Formats: sequence, structure tokens, C-alpha cells
Amino acid sequence: MRVCGVIGQSLKHSISAAFQQAAFDALGLDVRYHAWELSPEAIPSHLARLRQVDALGANVTIPYKLAVLDFIDERDPLVERVGAANTLVNNQGRLAAYNTDVGGFLQALRQDLHADPSGQHALVLGAGGAAHAVAIALLDSGAATLTLASRTFERAKALVQMLNSESRVIAIPWDLESLQSAVGRASMIVNTTPLGMLGPLQEETPLPHIHLPARILVFDLVANPLKTRLMREATAQGARAIGGLPMLIYQGAQSFELWTGNTAPLTVMFEAAAAQMQASSPSKGGI
Ligand code: NAP
Repeated sequence: MRVCGVIGQSLKHSISAAFQQAAFDALGLDVRYHAWELSPEAIPSHLARLRQVDALGANVTIPYKLAVLDFIDERDPLVERVGAANTLVNNQGRLAAYNTDVGGFLQALRQDLHADPSGQHALVLGAGGAAHAVAIALLDSGAATLTLASRTFERAKALVQMLNSESRVIAIPWDLESLQSAVGRASMIVNTTPLGMLGPLQEETPLPHIHLPARILVFDLVANPLKTRLMREATAQGARAIGGLPMLIYQGAQSFELWTGNTAPLTVMFEAAAAQMQASSPSKGGI
């Protein structure tokens, strides 16, 4: 038996563990996918374990997408650009890091929101690891402009600097007036904050008291619940909106393909994720 898993914290109801295990089982692969809840101190020894012959690799989730980079042997160029990894692959004792959030976001945008990133004027809410991946995905795919807003203005400014795309990217403060005017200019809104996710933040939205026009596309990275308050408020105005589940599955499917070389069974993965969300509701679901 080979081993694989997700490295993170609070993984009791991990959706990734449910749909990855279902994918291995569906293809008849003798792999056990674990939910590895680790303290920061345990990361180096755990990554040493992942170099052993029976390990395929791992997914990496909050809060370790940056921390693992100090202990890996090779990194895909996209990891360098995003500054974070969400997938590790054991190549005969050497650990290689990849970022499949970028590809997962673009696949969901195109296939599920039926949107072309090219020419978009995107307002990205949040400036953490997920915002980095979203920003790189949009810029590389020809987005016209990116407006970054984060509760901590310094983080949005730092992301603008890192992206180094001059006039195409600006940072704005996280206040009603600035957000309202950014929504007015935007063709697309991407929420990368945890506002709206199951738990204490569930009834929150990053854009309270702001009218969302019908022409706007909304992509909420929150995967659980399936329909967030932001999505409900957008669709009530006639706008198109998707949540984070398709992205979560696609990034996981790309990881699966890196580990196994097999095409990921997407339908099986979607069904297993839905079943896990049903089973773990209303508790807080880690991804
Ligand atoms: P992160 O690095 O911790 O960044 C979170 C961002 O949200 C920061 O800009 C933070 O601002 C902001 N934020 C946090 N709490 C807030 C609040 N109460 N009000 C306003 N802003 C707040 O996290 P991340 O890795 O980017 O992940 C962010 C979210 O995306 C999570 O919900 C995660 O589950 C989701 N995600 C989904 C997928 C998917 O496949 N669907 C993939 C990756 C991530 P401060 O700097 O001020 O704290």
C-alpha cells in the first residue's frame, strides 16, 4: 500500500481527504489518503517521511502552503511566482512542490462560471495565499486590470509589488467608499477571504451594503457552504456566481494526476465531496 495525504490543521472534516480517497478507490489504486494534522515543528520530519519509497506525496493546506517551501528539493516555476505550494510529489526520494490552485481556479472559471479571464476587470478581495494564486492566474490569462482590497492594506500593497505588473494592478483600502467604487468599475469579483464560510463567519459578506450589478461575475472561493451570502446577494440581482467547490475539486484532481499519472475521476470526486459536506454539516469543514 502507498500513502498520500493532506498536511494542515483542523482537518477532522476534510473534504480533500474524502474525495481523494474516493478517487484512488475508484481507480483500484492501493493508496491510503490521510489527513495529517501537524504542528509547525513536525513539518520537517513529516516531509522526510514523504521521501520514503511508499509515499506518493501530499496536498498542503492552511497554514502550511508557505512553510513547506523551506524543506523541499525542487519547485515548479509557478510555485516560485505564487510564493506558495499546495502539492508535493515524491520523485524517488526528492520532494517536488507544485501549485495547482492556479490551474484549479482557471478551470472552474472557464468550465463552471463559463467566463473568459481575458479582458476582465477583476476586484480581488483578500491578499493571502489564495489571492496570490488568483492574481497570477488572472494576469497570465490576460485580465485587463486587477484591483486588490484587503482588510490589512499593507498586504494588498505587498501583493501589488510582488506581481510587478505596473499599471494593470492597484491596491485600494478596505472601506465602503473604495469598495463601492471598485465594484462599479469591475466586471468580476473574486472573494478570497474566509467571510461566508461555515461557522461564525457564515452570515458575513465582504461587500455588505454594496449593490452588485447584474452584469458582474462573482467567484467565491469559499467551498462550504455551497452558496454563500455573497453569492446569494449577487444572484438575487441577476448576476452569475459560483462557489469554491469546483476549484477545490479541480486543484485536487490536478494533484492526483501529478501523483499517479492517471486521469482523475472527476464525477466520483464531486460526489464524494458532496457526501462529505452533507455528513460534516453543520460543523466547520476544513479543506
Ligand atoms: P490567508 O492567507 O489567511 O488570507 C486570508 C485573507 O482574507 C487575508 O487577506 C485576510 O486579511 C482576509 N481576511 C481574513 N479574515 C477576514 C475578515 N474577518 N474580514 C476581512 N478579511 C479577512 O488564507 P488563504 O490561503 O488565502 O485562503 C483564503 C480563503 O480561500 C479560505 O477561506 C480558503 O478556504 C479559501 N480557499 C479556497 C480554495 C478552493 O479551492 N476553493 C483554495 C484556496 C483557498 P488580513 O491580512 O487582514 O487577515
